[in-house]
Amino acid sequence: MARCDLTVRGGGILGLSCAWEAARRGARVRLIETVAIGAGASGGLVGALAPHVPDEWNPKKQFQLESLLMMEGWWAEVEQVSGLTAGYGRTGRLQPLAGAAAVELARRREESAVALWQGRADWRVVAATGAAWEPAAASGYLVRDTLTARVQPRLALGALAKAIAARGGEVVIGAAADQGPVIWATGMAGLDDLSVAMGKSVGSGVKGQALSLRYPAAELPQVQLDGLHIVPHADGTVAVGSTSERYWDDGAGVDGGLDALLATARAALPVLAGAEVVDRWAAVRPRAASRSPLLGEWPGRPGHFVANGGFKIGFGVAPRVAQVMVDLVLEGRDKIPAGFRVQG
Ligand SMILES: Cc1cc2nc3c(=O)[nH]c(=O)nc-3n(C[C@H](O)[C@H](O)[C@H](O)COP(=O)(O)OP(=O)(O)OC[C@H]3O[C@@H](n4cnc5c(N)ncnc54)[C@H](O)[C@@H]3O)c2cc1C
Repeated sequence: MARCDLTVRGGGILGLSCAWEAARRGARVRLIETVAIGAGASGGLVGALAPHVPDEWNPKKQFQLESLLMMEGWWAEVEQVSGLTAGYGRTGRLQPLAGAAAVELARRREESAVALWQGRADWRVVAATGAAWEPAAASGYLVRDTLTARVQPRLALGALAKAIAARGGEVVIGAAADQGPVIWATGMAGLDDLSVAMGKSVGSGVKGQALSLRYPAAELPQVQLDGLHIVPHADGTVAVGSTSERYWDDGAGVDGGLDALLATARAALPVLAGAEVVDRWAAVRPRAASRSPLLGEWPGRPGHFVANGGFKIGFGVAPRVAQVMVDLVLEGRDKIPAGFRVQG
């Protein structure tokens, strides 16, 4: 390959998305992943692309909204260029409402969603119907939104890697030299490196466990109750995630916490009672101290940039992260929200 315009380090969702965005704009890009595509937090099972609640608006919610609204076209192009499916589908979400206060709050959000989501998706309070694929709602009502989507993480990473190569980019697994400016999208290792370089903690990890069931629900909406996500995928599996653990011995180990999560999922949707468990998985999510994505120049290291801090919404924000990072690195346009910058 002729000299690269840009190197991206890290073959997770943020690194692959940045490399793809650069390649689709015609740049010569080299992506270097030391272990394997999806070796970190991205190589999992869940893939919920779920918005935050439409009220108490802030730059993170706005950024995430922009990302979710561009998803459909983004994944369609990746699928078309790669010839592979990413498992994207805007299938919506159901959230049961516990009581009268929750229903009242949800109705207020119905109104704020109209303005905040720019009429491009709905957040509606709907009456329970008793359908098999519907969680029990003590109030008799649920929220149904039409913004939530899903992608199948491992398929999505594979499609991105192939699309980068199809646009003339290089995807290297192992060691290779950096050329040009470097985007460090190296997940937990990157957060640790940045903390050492800056002499202070810029973030830490939060372990998560998830599993996959065989159950045909491909086009049905995902179900969310507090931290529980039940996400039907196009391949006839349903992902159930995720635990949230601040302390652990083995970041990739699965344990009884996952059994408890499965029991909660089966209580919420009894149709899943007999569904076979086909996969169990765990990883450590990179969480910035600010809890927002951590984007922009690496302070004190000219030519080096950071794309990190995906935490629980790395897949949800990836397309917009890629846009603002490539704008900055290749075009010198800085559209990164103030609260997302790496503070020197
Ligand atoms: C159980 C669980 C469920 C989740 N569910 C969802 C969800 O439903 N929706 C959602 O949006 N997000 C979800 N997330 C969060 C999401 O997975 C993360 O935010 C995202 O994967 C972070 O991506 P990343 O590219 O920053 O990091 P990673 O995926 O960790 O990628 C970093 C990569 O960099 C590589 N690397 C490290 N050092 C170097 C180096 N020096 N050079 C080259 N490569 C290097 C690593 O091997 C790794 O492959 C979930 C996470 C977990 C754990």
